[in-house]
Amino acid sequence: HFLKFPAGKQGPLRLVFLNCQPCLPTGRLLVGNWTEVEKNAVTIFGKIIRREIPADIVYEDDLCLAFRDINPQAPVHLLLIPKKEIARLADAPPEDQALLGHLLLAANKVARQLGVQDAYRVVVNNGAGAGQSVFHLHLHILAGRPMRWPPG
Ligand code: 5GP
Repeated sequence: HFLKFPAGKQGPLRLVFLNCQPCLPTGRLLVGNWTEVEKNAVTIFGKIIRREIPADIVYEDDLCLAFRDINPQAPVHLLLIPKKEIARLADAPPEDQALLGHLLLAANKVARQLGVQDAYRVVVNNGAGAGQSVFHLHLHILAGRPMRWPPG
């Protein structure tokens, strides 16, 4: 993959264009800042979307994909991701309002599909300081055990 970065690394990074033919069909625009985008400009979740690595996919539609977390923290632990690459929730632009709403409704669908619609938790870790380790926006959907509050 060939990353084309604008010159200089000062200030916020708005767009990173990945000039990679196999990647272009999924619209490979990353939005974020240098520190976090450089951590994993081509994330593991992008590879799951493009079926370059396997995942236990439980739901898919035009805009998003849900699959089981590789290191589950509850009997049901899914990750729901937009197919559009948005590094962090904080980087979602206003025009993605409908997409963000779509993700919550899709979380509902996935919970119903797995029979946990009456008790599930949705978590978004935004930024490394909040525990985000993969810089492709994702919703954790956790269920199947009692949930404590506040979370750690
Ligand atoms: P974060 O820490 O960014 O909020 O959540 C990232 C999640 O992705 C973690 O819960 C981690 O277990 C999961 N994860 C990391 N790599 C993979 C992978 O290759 N496959 C799957 N299914 N989950 C992954």
